[in-house]
Amino acid sequence: MAQSAPPFAPSPIGQRRGLAEAGPAGALPGRADAVVVGGGLIGLATAWRLAQRAGLAVTVLERETLGAGASLAATGMLAPAAEHEPGSDMLLPLALESLARWPGFRDDLQAASGHDIDYRTDGTLVLAIGRDEVERLRFRYELQRRSGVAAAWLAGPEVRRREPCLRPSIAAGVHCPLDHQVDPRRVMGALAAACRAAGVTIVESCAATGLDWTGGRVTGLHTEQGTIAAGTVILASGAWSGESGLLPDHLSLPVRPLKGQSLALRTTRRTGTLSGMVWTEQVHMAPKGDGHLIVGATVEDCGFQPGVTAGGLYALLEGARRVMPGIEEMAVEAVWSGYRPTSDDDAPIIDTLAPGLVAATGHHRNGYLLAPVTADAVADLVAGGALPDVARPFTLARFRRDARASA
Ligand SMILES: Cc1cc2nc3c(=O)[nH]c(=O)nc-3n(C[C@H](O)[C@H](O)[C@H](O)COP(=O)(O)OP(=O)(O)OC[C@H]3O[C@@H](n4cnc5c(N)ncnc54)[C@H](O)[C@@H]3O)c2cc1C
Repeated sequence: MAQSAPPFAPSPIGQRRGLAEAGPAGALPGRADAVVVGGGLIGLATAWRLAQRAGLAVTVLERETLGAGASLAATGMLAPAAEHEPGSDMLLPLALESLARWPGFRDDLQAASGHDIDYRTDGTLVLAIGRDEVERLRFRYELQRRSGVAAAWLAGPEVRRREPCLRPSIAAGVHCPLDHQVDPRRVMGALAAACRAAGVTIVESCAATGLDWTGGRVTGLHTEQGTIAAGTVILASGAWSGESGLLPDHLSLPVRPLKGQSLALRTTRRTGTLSGMVWTEQVHMAPKGDGHLIVGATVEDCGFQPGVTAGGLYALLEGARRVMPGIEEMAVEAVWSGYRPTSDDDAPIIDTLAPGLVAATGHHRNGYLLAPVTADAVADLVAGGALPDVARPFTLARFRRDARASA
């Protein structure tokens, strides 16, 4: 099994690059049972399940390179417990179901691709420094317990016993043992390999430019490289799913980009590292199997503004140093930004938009967590004609209901 993830850019500080293992360049076929728009995590996971489970001929179109949107920018936390907050009750059953599917998804993916995805089960430690933060953490902890999410309250000394690299002044913590993590770069490499092994055609540097309609049904796609006929088109174009262009106005999706900046620190035996994920009000930190410590992520509602900023990096480093002073000795290996695809209620949209047209988007900060359940739900919808019960609350109907209620 391949153990190495694609390398980070060398010093001086680089942006993260795309997947190192580019596969063979696919040519656009004339037709496919299913065409997926977007070669991110959701597009590849869906394409793989459609080919592997439903036996369909699938083509993925990506206008840049695989993972160039949000998917290579993510930290890879599978954290329904740490992320549980007021207002996210609707999402919790889907998130817990997806987390339960992750071990099977991991085993299938690793077997199909021959790649190790650095799946870790260490849990998340949510931290509080100072009295106000302790009060807010207590509120979060009560919410977790009321929702049936496993969580354990820890006093400061117990936090330090678990993670000796943390600052002694940390007052309290909540350990969330349910939360897991993966390395996004390894997952994306594994998905690309698994897709190709299942016969999926992947066409990069090829934008979808328009839908082909015949008698009220989507029957194909116009692209920069020609037209492809399709039994079903699946829109998995991430933060760009809400842009005008591909969809007619009456089908437009309530999805916008929410920018996030992150960085990777190099840990050594001398600097020490964390044994599991740590979460504070400012940052999260996730240690990876290759020795990197990912520090993420800003949340910026600024539209599409590429690049990293001094303010963004300062906030991340200051937030990390506040709980782990040892980061001062660590080398900064890479910095990057990406766009979370965020719907109006922060939950995904999995739905049939028109005959022959399905959407799988809006996964916001939970795309990795929700990938297994999303891919299975879209495979059920395309191959079987119906969504599974757990995915039914995530159609567009909820926004129409909300609009009627507020009219
Ligand atoms: C900084 C950051 C940290 C995150 N951390 C986590 C985390 O810890 N855990 C977690 O679960 N989630 C996390 N997320 C969220 C997660 O990354 C996303 O939810 C997920 O990657 C979305 O995948 P996607 O395939 O829908 O979108 P994307 O990865 O954005 O893929 C969409 C693709 O569609 C392509 N595209 C767009 N338009 C077209 C077109 N017309 N034709 C062809 N291709 C097109 C784009 O180029 C893009 O590659 C994080 C996100 C960010 C930004």
